Amino acid sequence: MGKWYQKDVKQVEELLQVKVNKGLSERQVTERRKRFGSNILQTEKKQSKWLLFLRQFQDFMVLILLAATLIAGMLGEFIDAIAIMVIVLLNGCIGFYQEQKAEKSMDKLKNLAAPIANILREGEWEKRPSQEVVIGDVIKINRGDRIPADIRIIKSDSLEIEESALTGESIPVLKQILPIVEDGLDAPDQVNMGFKGTMVTRGSGIGIVVHTGMETMMGKIASLMAGTKKLVTPLERKLAELGKILIFVALSLTILVVGVGIYQGHPVYHMFLAGVSLAVAAIPEGLPAIVTVALSLGVQRMIRRKAIVRQLSAVETLGTTSIICSDKTGTMTENKMTVKEIYLNGRYIQVSGDGYDMNGNFYLENKKLDEKHPNLKSMLLYGMLCNHASLTVKKGKYSVEGDPTDGALLVAARKLGLSHNYDQKFQIIQEIPFDSNRKRMSIVIEDENQMRFLITKGAPDVLLPRFSNHYTENGRRPFDLLEKNKLEDAVNQMADKAYRTIAIGMKPLSRTESLETTILEKDLTFIGVYGIIDPPRKEVKQAIQDCKEAGIKTVMITGDHVKTAAAIANDLNMMPEDGLVIEGRELNGMSSSDLTDIIEDVYVFARVTPEHKLKIVEAFQEKGHIVAMTGDGVNDAPAIKASDIGISMGITGTDVTKEASSLILMDDNFATIKNAIQEGRNIYENIRKFIRYLLSSNVGEILVMLFAMLMAMPLPLVPVQILWVNLVTDGLPAMALGLDQPEEDVMKRPPRSPRERIFSRGLGFKIISRGFLIGVVTLIGFMVVYQNNESNLEYARTVAFTTLVMAQLIHVFDCRSENSIFDRNPFENIYLIIAVLSSLLLMLITIYWEPLQPIFQTTYLSLYDWLLIIGLSAIPTVVFGLSKK
Ligand code: ADP
Ligand code: MG
Repeated sequence: MGKWYQKDVKQVEELLQVKVNKGLSERQVTERRKRFGSNILQTEKKQSKWLLFLRQFQDFMVLILLAATLIAGMLGEFIDAIAIMVIVLLNGCIGFYQEQKAEKSMDKLKNLAAPIANILREGEWEKRPSQEVVIGDVIKINRGDRIPADIRIIKSDSLEIEESALTGESIPVLKQILPIVEDGLDAPDQVNMGFKGTMVTRGSGIGIVVHTGMETMMGKIASLMAGTKKLVTPLERKLAELGKILIFVALSLTILVVGVGIYQGHPVYHMFLAGVSLAVAAIPEGLPAIVTVALSLGVQRMIRRKAIVRQLSAVETLGTTSIICSDKTGTMTENKMTVKEIYLNGRYIQVSGDGYDMNGNFYLENKKLDEKHPNLKSMLLYGMLCNHASLTVKKGKYSVEGDPTDGALLVAARKLGLSHNYDQKFQIIQEIPFDSNRKRMSIVIEDENQMRFLITKGAPDVLLPRFSNHYTENGRRPFDLLEKNKLEDAVNQMADKAYRTIAIGMKPLSRTESLETTILEKDLTFIGVYGIIDPPRKEVKQAIQDCKEAGIKTVMITGDHVKTAAAIANDLNMMPEDGLVIEGRELNGMSSSDLTDIIEDVYVFARVTPEHKLKIVEAFQEKGHIVAMTGDGVNDAPAIKASDIGISMGITGTDVTKEASSLILMDDNFATIKNAIQEGRNIYENIRKFIRYLLSSNVGEILVMLFAMLMAMPLPLVPVQILWVNLVTDGLPAMALGLDQPEEDVMKRPPRSPRERIFSRGLGFKIISRGFLIGVVTLIGFMVVYQNNESNLEYARTVAFTTLVMAQLIHVFDCRSENSIFDRNPFENIYLIIAVLSSLLLMLITIYWEPLQPIFQTTYLSLYDWLLIIGLSAIPTVVFGLSKK
């Protein structure tokens, strides 16, 4: 039957029932997806829901509690036993719900960040998620793509693929399209095949999908590997460590309570059950889950604001970011480019019309020009030919497919009536694609008379040394020093107006001339310079200002001309008077320490190549900064990886950069970075808020028991009450704090230090002091009633129980701000209001619903009792709120 690489295109087409110029039909696609499944690597088996639910109860203390309950049940305390069981079950449900929620949102994230494939279906190229690729699909691949499935390559434009993910070999393989006769070839030798997961490092190509999902070469390897490990963020790790300490502290205190209680003559069995309940209540076993929920809900908020977080840990780092290094083109600017001016024959021609409006004219000193104007037509024609973009029209609206810079040149050509059917008269012999290192692009073309010529376009200063002639109104002339200076002046003048400049040159070639790149782009004849406008995005100026107030410095990084970059930086008001603008070639001559010395004063890096980006990141990091760095091309990946927050572009970014990044901007917009940072700061603050709340509540619960034992009093709370307090106060209100709105000044403070601990900024003191007072007022409530009604222990306990819950439910509002409830409008967070109201209701039910009274050992409370309870439970908040400690 033979292997795919042995077949020619015709055979592949026949076997897979597809035409390479048409692709599959929707019907074929649906049918094949049904038969072969989605194009995904299924490495992990999903755990069953039941197992996940049971996992909620595997906690050591919970197991002991269950055992103790069982004993209680056997000793005849059925009501107690059942009540405890029910509460533990409810607790498990909450934990299960939280974990499910966390997992679901993580799954959503994975899908959002999924790579995109360019597929030919029913004759049209479409961009679809890679997992939708089916066998027989015709797909296009470009530099920077990860190949979505195994393909038989049928078109290769200098297509090179790096297959180390599969073969370990990091030197890219040049791909070809002819069938191979030999048999039994390994992957590296199948040079007309492309494999899922490998990376296009050069050129472009087209292939037909022959295997998808687990049937691919990568799938076969993946099935051998065990499931991937879940990554734990530093914060989660810190919290897990903290959790261990807290368990130790809570357990020791509990043992102390139990010990003292037994010493004071309480029955061992009662003290044991109370102790275990207390331990279950006081150990914040739910903390990691709530943190994950808070992180992933925050991540969802970010998605709504167009930022996709690829690693949860990025959320924490975002809050500590102190430098944003951002690309200019497309991130700070709109990437909607328009040719506004053309420098030709030593004079400036104005071009009218905005964006992709094809109606525009050319004016020289207010005189409209036509195609007879010397050299104008050839310049526009060359700009159109040496071009990698195309214009598409849908419902009368034009849009550019490909590089917007190239697109602008197409639009300009169209304004003179030139359009792409010129293509047919020209045959492309060779193309050297644009890249940000070379800053130019060249094409060798043969016309209908078999005349060959080279067209090169690129950054004027890069092309300058390659010009030896220039066109004038009267034909070709040598490019002398005078002409050189004139060109430089012209470029400076255009750049000062924030124009992006592109020079264009050409040279006729004989048919025998070598097409070697190095010899090729020399002795060119200069034709003209395009001046292209790319206006800043409207929202960016404000975003940069906001960042400044938040102690975050914005740095512009661009391949554009210094003056173009500086003009836009000034438009955006991002540079102080004495701010520095540095060029890539200055960086070359600079040692790392030289750069580190001045880097704090640099605001713009112009004419840089992707390699410079790495140097810039490292210099800022050397200064102790936490650096966010954006990028879109393949070459940006190392800098993105080295930065603390690597940011890639959702629209223009390549798969490779996206994979290296921890944040993807769905709209490529700088302002989105600021929004993500704001969310990042808020999420961290919210985590601090509920840690503060949970721990101070727990401190209160333990202390009231401890004090009572030390004072030789009866237990102020019975086990079911302790567990109930834990259930109603911990779960919902804590989660609601995780959803809290940012405080007004989150973006008015400097970034958090990455070395900061969770208990920094006075949090530890707040937890202990508030917890202490909560314990004290609860005890007072208990004592006041107990002293007057010694026979009615239930009454005193009900008051203590209610005071404890009320104190916590008031205190939860304190936790929303650095100090207390008085600092913020308590009604802002609707989730918190709902959570507190439902907790209140749960508490009232246990007091006033008769069937529950014997279970919770509660009695009715009078209005007088309520006055006492509310008065007492407000004390911690009032005392600390007014003293602002
Ligand atoms: P950036 O993305 O930061 O704007 P680039 O590396 O894309 O920087 O561009 C650097 C310079 O290369 C531009 O100022 C322009 O002169 C030139 N250039 C940009 N795009 C093209 C292109 N498609 N073809 C030829 N030259 C280009
Ligand atoms: Mg660019």
